Amino acid sequence: MEETIFSQIIKGELPADIIHEDDDVLAFLDINPVSPGGTLVIPKKWSRNILDIDAESWAKVMEVVRMLAPAIKVAMRADGVNIMMNNEPAAGQIVSHSHVHIIPRHENDGVVSWPGKGYPEGEKEKTAEKIREVLVATTE
Ligand code: AMP
Repeated sequence: MEETIFSQIIKGELPADIIHEDDDVLAFLDINPVSPGGTLVIPKKWSRNILDIDAESWAKVMEVVRMLAPAIKVAMRADGVNIMMNNEPAAGQIVSHSHVHIIPRHENDGVVSWPGKGYPEGEKEKTAEKIREVLVATTE
């Protein structure tokens, strides 16, 4: 268990604008959101990210995401919603406690989407095979 800003929020040692709380999950406004209403959904039980979270905690977090996304979309008069998770610093993770971002989006809001890069000839098939090999080796 790593002590982070989020564990302090769970314990009530740091203030947060809480949107939802139950025995296992907390959701609160991101202090520096991509767009207003941006919300973080976290398990109370510590895990670092998607790479180590247990299936039960993940299911509980995602159920709260599913429940909150439409409410946030309506409240923010948004046209859409991104569900995002950064896993490890290389992928932009700053806080070492699993968290899912709910990001309200508006038509032409200027938020940059990730550009697709395509594949050189033959690489797509090889890539799928690489992933399937690891999957078979790790789920046997
Ligand atoms: P990530 O880059 O996925 O680790 O995102 C961490 C998020 O936590 C960022 O969007 C921050 O704005 C947000 N954040 C950091 N500190 C706080 C805080 N005290 N209350 C609410 N959100 C926070």
